[in-house]
Amino acid sequence: MVVALSPEHEHELRTRYPSYARYVALGGEARCGAGWFDLLSALLSEVESVNPEATVTETKQKMGLLRVGVDGLGEGGVERLLMWERRSATVCEICGGPGVLRRGGRHETRCEVHRGVQAADW
Ligand SMILES: [Zn+2]
Repeated sequence: MVVALSPEHEHELRTRYPSYARYVALGGEARCGAGWFDLLSALLSEVESVNPEATVTETKQKMGLLRVGVDGLGEGGVERLLMWERRSATVCEICGGPGVLRRGGRHETRCEVHRGVQAADW
């Protein structure tokens, strides 16, 4: 079962958020499950409001959390991104419902239904 962001999701992010479009133009992609789409979209919306010239440098699941790197957020930017990262620990990466971060062999944030379901093979 592979539940990565759909091409439609990717298209929407590229269209709405220039910071993300620049990342994709450089070969980047969102390496996370579809359940984090709303979270990622809200994060990017905030990035655009802080600095429309900012550029995303990474978007992936790491240690069960949504890790997004952004150049150009200035002072306080790292803290904002860490806030979003912490928020991802409460959202199932597969379905977007309430989730719990489980630290095991493989760290993952999942609801009960999607425990052990992998987002994708990257
Ligand atoms: Zn779920």
